[in-house]
Amino acid sequence: MAEQTRSTGRTAARATRLAHQGRDVRIYGGKTVNPPVSRASTILFDDLASLRAGATGHSKPDFVQYGRFGTETHIALRRAWSDLEGSDDTLLLPCGLAANVLALLAFVESGDHLLMIDNVYAPTRGVCDGLLRPLGVETTYFDPQIGAAIEELIRPNSKLIYLETPGSHSFDLCDVPAYVEVARRHGLKTALDNTWATPLFYRPLEQGIDVSIQAGTKYLGGHSDVMLGLVAANGETVQQLRSKSDLLGYSVAADDAYLALRGFRTLEVRLRRHEASALQVARWLRERPEVERVLHPALPDHPRHDLFARDFDGASGLFGLVLKPGFPAAAIEAMVDGFTYFGLGYSWGGYESLIVPSPIEKMRTATGWEAVDRTLRIHIGLEDPSDLIDDLASGFKRLSATAQAAE
Ligand SMILES: *Cc1c(COP(=O)(O)O)cnc(C)c1O
Repeated sequence: MAEQTRSTGRTAARATRLAHQGRDVRIYGGKTVNPPVSRASTILFDDLASLRAGATGHSKPDFVQYGRFGTETHIALRRAWSDLEGSDDTLLLPCGLAANVLALLAFVESGDHLLMIDNVYAPTRGVCDGLLRPLGVETTYFDPQIGAAIEELIRPNSKLIYLETPGSHSFDLCDVPAYVEVARRHGLKTALDNTWATPLFYRPLEQGIDVSIQAGTKYLGGHSDVMLGLVAANGETVQQLRSKSDLLGYSVAADDAYLALRGFRTLEVRLRRHEASALQVARWLRERPEVERVLHPALPDHPRHDLFARDFDGASGLFGLVLKPGFPAAAIEAMVDGFTYFGLGYSWGGYESLIVPSPIEKMRTATGWEAVDRTLRIHIGLEDPSDLIDDLASGFKRLSATAQAAE
């Protein structure tokens, strides 16, 4: 699907492609800049032969037989996203977690085994333990730093290695090519949740990953008003994903596909701003006496900054913060409760800044997390970073004042 660009002979710069991909879906012969929001359940055909031509469902990438498989609005988004990923096609799912579920269910059956990175998004872990285990699929969680030694965990019934880098709470990075090399040698599929970086800053398929997963709810939507998942892949992996997706009955509203495509056009300018502001705030935080560590892959003191420098074109606006030990829970609560600009809520990737406690110790089993009850996760939005720094500074005042009062 990305071929329109390639056939021009010269590949346009990524920012140019963000502005132009997915705009050649014409049904009215018209010239609107954006595709229409085309809502449909029934799609009418001129004759029986045309209707029968679609009997294979949406196995033909641009053929839509029934509204569940999308309309031209969805096709436009799929083309645009596939161009960014460098994939043959993209499947759209109703949310990021649905995309995670699809990437798992497409490759394992009862009696199979999968290898799951220990820093995985907690609800994805929930799918392994709560849905796959009762269906007879066993999961082994592994240390993100295990690398090529994952070979020792592979069993005759292993089918999939599933990665997420960086982890969206701990910001662990993993050596993707090391896992891909082992997986290929043993005939295992690989999937990677790439929500933090988006394919603008990291492209898993280029490193040999079979399935690139994105919670479009985050940066693609970008305005905290849409739930969406995307799964990009090449060749027969697309068919495997598509047939499972059809069986699962997933469907995405045209309005949500439209909002995501609108977000796509501004993804680069937003992400570059998130990146710059987040780095400014992270560097400021690192100097604060209350802070033990800042967990940010783009900072040179990140334990695997080497991987960030090798694999990524940029950083997004989400990072972690470990407070020094000893602050009472009430002091951390006073800090988090009193912010002016930092909202307290789940998800991230919108234009607004957020903060939440990160109970990482409760999200891991293969590895531990020693900074219990003092890790926070921060999303830096599109506000002026100096206002965000002022807001955090007042938070540290509340932290210290409440801690002193408790002594
Ligand atoms: C948010 C998130 C998801 C799930 O996305 P939803 O749209 O909320 O279902 C999956 N993976 C990661 C890394 C996420 O941050």
